Amino acid sequence: MTFASIVAAARAEGRTLLDEVEAKSILKEAGIPATAATLATTAAEAQSQADAMGYPVVLKVVSPDIAHKSDAGGVKLNLADRAAVAAAFDEIIANANKAAPGARIKGVSVQQMAKPGTEVIVGMTTDPQFGPVMMFGLGGIMVEVLKDVSFRVVPLEPKDAASMIDDIKGKPILDGVRGQPPADIEALRSTILGVSELVQAHPEIRELDLNPVFAYPDGALAVDARIVVSEAAS
Ligand code: ADP
Ligand code: MG
Repeated sequence: MTFASIVAAARAEGRTLLDEVEAKSILKEAGIPATAATLATTAAEAQSQADAMGYPVVLKVVSPDIAHKSDAGGVKLNLADRAAVAAAFDEIIANANKAAPGARIKGVSVQQMAKPGTEVIVGMTTDPQFGPVMMFGLGGIMVEVLKDVSFRVVPLEPKDAASMIDDIKGKPILDGVRGQPPADIEALRSTILGVSELVQAHPEIRELDLNPVFAYPDGALAVDARIVVSEAAS
């Protein structure tokens, strides 16, 4: 599916929020590294998709009404085999129905379990005055509690992506502390620039969140993605 067809399909359903599967196929088209996710509507479908991808896998709820999937019991990590996938599928649907009664549930996404990395966030929001603005920060409590984030107005030049990373207080964590290897800063820069280029090419993207991106000593990989587009022009 191309960007245009994904956005058209969402708008036809009256949605502006693209789900993880849709957002990740847009990332793929844009060349931004992310774990590929497929949509399964039954446990058997999830199993055959997991078989094709290789274990371990991750299952997550896909619902336009559930923004924070783990809060709704909608994320199951590190599933080792077919039996674990079937059990996780049923559990996720039950949890989601309980946490968000009446939520529209499209199914469950299936993706490979990524190896652990340092969690960072790459995002874009639309500012009423400045237009698209990129955001970068360290994931988890660093962003939620300490608000350790940096911002740049789109379009970014390569040096802007580099200085965004340098600007966060937690930068030493990416440089490697206590014997930890340094994160691949070049790969993070390229993810930031890739998102900047993607949103510049598609002004209908209003918000984009890669939360988290795993930063590795060699490479970077988005494991969660969310995109909000504008309503169709009338
Ligand atoms: P949400 O933010 O909606 O709760 P996420 O997709 O971000 O859901 O998943 C929650 C957490 O699970 C992530 O922050 C990450 O730590 C972990 N996670 C998600 N997907 C993967 C994956 N493919 N591989 C490894 N860990 C993952
Ligand atoms: Mg997330």
